[in-house]
Amino acid sequence: MGCVFCNIASGEQKADIVYQDDKIVAFKDRAPKAPVHLLVIPRKHIRNLNALEESDAELMAHLMMSLPAIAKEQGLLDGFRTITNTGKGGGQEVYHMHFHILGGGKLHAM
Ligand code: 5GP
Ligand code: ZN
Repeated sequence: MGCVFCNIASGEQKADIVYQDDKIVAFKDRAPKAPVHLLVIPRKHIRNLNALEESDAELMAHLMMSLPAIAKEQGLLDGFRTITNTGKGGGQEVYHMHFHILGGGKLHAM
């Protein structure tokens, strides 16, 4: 079975992409839960945090360190929320690791 986020990364499936480079892609969530709701994925298919390997460390650092600029570029100048759901217990629905960026309105305290 194909992976929807691999297909977005390859361009096979349409998405509203706001940033991409050779390692990561950021696009708008199709069902936004905040005025700004982005998903940031590695191009490499990694299921979730539980599936990380030591060799993914550099990729993960790049992804994490790219989040602030991606958020700022989308107008989130005073901050944003980052969420990643891992596995059934984390409520993960799409099994290609992704970081939600949420902001632009009042978020509930967690
Ligand atoms: P999670 O796996 O973190 O629980 O949630 C997956 C997220 O991906 C949801 O917020 C959902 O709206 C979003 N999503 C699922 N399929 C697509 C898609 O095909 N395109 C886009 N842009 N977002 C998607
Ligand atoms: Zn994938």
